Amino acid sequence: MFNIILFGPPGSGKGTQSEKIVDKFGLVHLSTGNLLRQEIADKTALGLEAKKLMDRGQLVPDEVVIGMIDNCIENHADAKGFLFDGFPRTVAQAEALDKLLELKKTSIGKMIALEVSEDELVTRLLKRGETSGRSDDTNEEIIRNRFAVYKKDTSQVAEHYKEQNKFEMVKGEGSVDDIFELLRQAIERGSSAT
Ligand code: ADP
Repeated sequence: MFNIILFGPPGSGKGTQSEKIVDKFGLVHLSTGNLLRQEIADKTALGLEAKKLMDRGQLVPDEVVIGMIDNCIENHADAKGFLFDGFPRTVAQAEALDKLLELKKTSIGKMIALEVSEDELVTRLLKRGETSGRSDDTNEEIIRNRFAVYKKDTSQVAEHYKEQNKFEMVKGEGSVDDIFELLRQAIERGSSAT
């Protein structure tokens, strides 16, 4: 198996690039944001609780997202590998993911981070909010709160994978195809090591 984490702040293009990566490399795409939005659309108890936090730009509790990821990994026993998008977002989530993969006799091959300036991120998110129907993208204050959470909790996840020598940064500004080309090269460099 070959497992990748696509990392980066809100609006850095993880969703867009994830689609292209899973097509190219035949991986299963696991986005905790998408899984949570599906729970909200289905009006489940989990979704109703998660929505309150997401609308404020706060994180959903670790045990909730870890449980969702655990289920998805179990449901895709034949996967060639997974692309994790928007997860792990805390060190506790990263440690839990490492353990889940270890049980499957596999591990993270590589974490790739998309680097985008904060001004560009705000512009992209407000633009996405005009059409996406995502309430967390329409208010600049909530967007700024998501960046604050990212800096406080999520950026440490990069350190976790840097310690494992699995981290690589890619420039996330430019055309979608140019960024994908950089990601493709980073993935191919990484896969030879695992
Ligand atoms: P973005 O990366 O643009 O913020 P996501 O779709 O990844 O968008 O996430 C939207 C929201 O869903 C987050 O602000 C957070 O509230 C919640 N969320 C998604 N993934 C996680 C996670 N791994 N841990 C905790 N909360 C999460």
